[in-house]
Amino acid sequence: MGTKRWCSTSGVSPRHASLARYRTRFWGQKETPESRVLATLRSFKVLAHETGHMFSLYHCRRYECIMNGSNSLEEMDRAPIEPCPVCLKMLQHNLRFDIRARYRRLMAVYDRNGLTQEQDRIKARLARIGCG
Ligand SMILES: [Zn+2]
Ligand SMILES: [Zn+2]
Repeated sequence: MGTKRWCSTSGVSPRHASLARYRTRFWGQKETPESRVLATLRSFKVLAHETGHMFSLYHCRRYECIMNGSNSLEEMDRAPIEPCPVCLKMLQHNLRFDIRARYRRLMAVYDRNGLTQEQDRIKARLARIGCG
């Protein structure tokens, strides 16, 4: 699974666009709590990336960003789940959402799904903007 080349920029081949492929049991391997969290994180990344396209974002080459294109699972795993500051600002400009409220809702989602590293990153961002 790790060295397989993927055709699309989100790490999901259009011919195999099933999120089930991120589950280890799809590949006949034993599932663990860690592998379930990783599958959830990968699924969220695909959803966030594709949703970014739905809301007018193109692929990003400025920073490490959820809107970076990727051609492999390894590249997708290296990308953060969050947009870079430029992409976040474009999204916020287009959709007019409250960034602090967005972060608080994301924290709850990450908490429910065991995504502790992502939750910690959001906590740090909230602290930087004075909402820790
Ligand atoms: Zn894309
Ligand atoms: Zn970006």
